[in-house]
Amino acid sequence: MASIKILLDKCTGCALCVKACPFGAVRMADRKAVIDMAKCTLCGACAAACRFAAIELEKAGGPKKDLSAYKDVWVFCEQKKGVIQSISFELLGEGRKLADKLGVKLCAVLLGSGMEDAAERLGERGADKVYLVDHPSLKAYQDDPYTEVLVKLAEEYKPEVILCGATTIGRSLVSRVAIKIDAGLTADCTGLDIDPKERLLLQTRPAFGGNIMATIVTPNHRPQMATVRHKVMKEAPLQGGRLAEIISKAYPAETFASRTRLLDVVEEMGATVNISEADVIVAGGRGMGGKENFSMLEELATVLGGAVGASRSAVDADWIPYSHQVGQTGKTVVPKLYIACGISGQIQHLIGMQSSKVIVAINKDPDAPIFKVATYGIVGDAAELVPALTREFRRVLNKQ
Ligand SMILES: Cc1cc2nc3c(=O)[nH]c(=O)nc-3n(C[C@H](O)[C@H](O)[C@H](O)COP(=O)(O)OP(=O)(O)OC[C@H]3O[C@@H](n4cnc5c(N)ncnc54)[C@H](O)[C@@H]3O)c2cc1C
Repeated sequence: MASIKILLDKCTGCALCVKACPFGAVRMADRKAVIDMAKCTLCGACAAACRFAAIELEKAGGPKKDLSAYKDVWVFCEQKKGVIQSISFELLGEGRKLADKLGVKLCAVLLGSGMEDAAERLGERGADKVYLVDHPSLKAYQDDPYTEVLVKLAEEYKPEVILCGATTIGRSLVSRVAIKIDAGLTADCTGLDIDPKERLLLQTRPAFGGNIMATIVTPNHRPQMATVRHKVMKEAPLQGGRLAEIISKAYPAETFASRTRLLDVVEEMGATVNISEADVIVAGGRGMGGKENFSMLEELATVLGGAVGASRSAVDADWIPYSHQVGQTGKTVVPKLYIACGISGQIQHLIGMQSSKVIVAINKDPDAPIFKVATYGIVGDAAELVPALTREFRRVLNKQ
C-alpha cells in the first residue's frame, strides 16, 4: 500500500503544500501540515511542492513482478460492426516483426459478438494465436466490459507486449487497462523495435510538440503497452489458408457489466469519404478564410474521389468537425495525393501528413513552411485556385 506522512520536525508551516494540493486535502494546524486521508489521493503534489523534504510519500511497492513470466506479443484487434479495422492488420504486420525478434508468438485479441469467422481469418494476417471473447455485450465498444475482459486476459496469459491502435477506441481502452494491471503505456507511437539484449520494446513517438522523436522503454513493468497511429505501419500481408490457434474464453456475467448504456452508434454524415481511408485528401486551413469556403474543398474532393481534411485552426474555428483534423492531435494520413490549401505547415500539422506520396501546397505566402515538404507548390489565393483546379480536374476526368 502507498502511504504518506508529515515529518513534523522538518515541517516549517510554510503552507506551500496546502496551495499545491489539488484536492484540498492538506490544512495547517498549529503551524504544521495535516493531511485529510479521506480526501488525499496520494498524487504527490504536496511532496513535490515541499522545500523542506517534510512530506514522505511511499509509493505502492508490493512484491516485484517476475518479468520473465511474461511472453508473446499481443495485438488488440479493433472491430466495428463485426468488421476488423485496417489498423489491426497494420499492428499485426508490425507485431509479427517484434515477435520474430523476441522469438515468441504473435497473438491477436478479438472481442465482439459473432466474431468466430473473423477470428479464424486473423491467422491469414500472421497471428499464431487468437484470444477470442464472444459475448453480446461486446458487440460494440464500451469502456467497462472491454477493459474488464482485456485485464482478465492479460492477467491470466501475461503478454510481454500489448499493441493497440491510437484510435478513439484504442486510446480509451488501453489507458484504463494499463492502470489496472500496473503497466507502462506509450501513446501514439510512430515506430517500434526490440532491444535484443534487454528484450525491451523500443517505443518511438514525437515529443516536445513534435520537435524531437523520443524512444521510450519500460524496463520494470510488464506488459509493455503502446498505442500506434493509423497508417504509420504497413498492413500484414494476406497469407491465404494460414491457420491460427483459437482460444475462446468465457467469463461470468458480471465481467460484462457496464456503468454506461450504449443507445446508438451514429455515423457522421458527409459527402466525402473518411480521411483515414482516402487516397486523395483536400485539406484546408485558416487561409481558407471561413466555413463557407470549405464547400469548395468538398467539391474538389468529390471530383477527385477523396476526402476533406483540415488543420487544427480550421477545426478550432468550427469550420469543420474534429474528425477531419490532420496532425499531432488529429489523424495521421498517408494518401497518394494531399492538397494543402491555406495551411502554413506547422510541425504539428506536418507530422500527420508528411508521408503522403504527393503533396500539393497552395499558399499565398511563398515562404510558408508547407512548401518545404510539398512536391508541387502553387503561390496564390486558394479561393481562386481551388475552384480553378476543380473545373480543370472535372474537364480532364470527364465528370459533370
Ligand atoms: C500540442 C499541439 C498540438 C497541435 N496539433 C495540431 C494538429 O493535430 N493539427 C494541426 O493542423 N495543428 C495542430 N496544432 C496547431 C499548429 O501549431 C498550428 O497552429 C496550425 O496547424 C496552424 O493551422 P493553419 O496552417 O491552418 O493556420 P495558420 O498557421 O494561421 O496558416 C494559415 C496559412 O494560410 C495562408 N493563407 C492565408 N490566406 C490565404 C489565401 N487566401 N490563400 C492561400 N493561402 C492563404 C497563410 O499564408 C498561412 O500560411 C497543434 C498545436 C499544439 C501546440
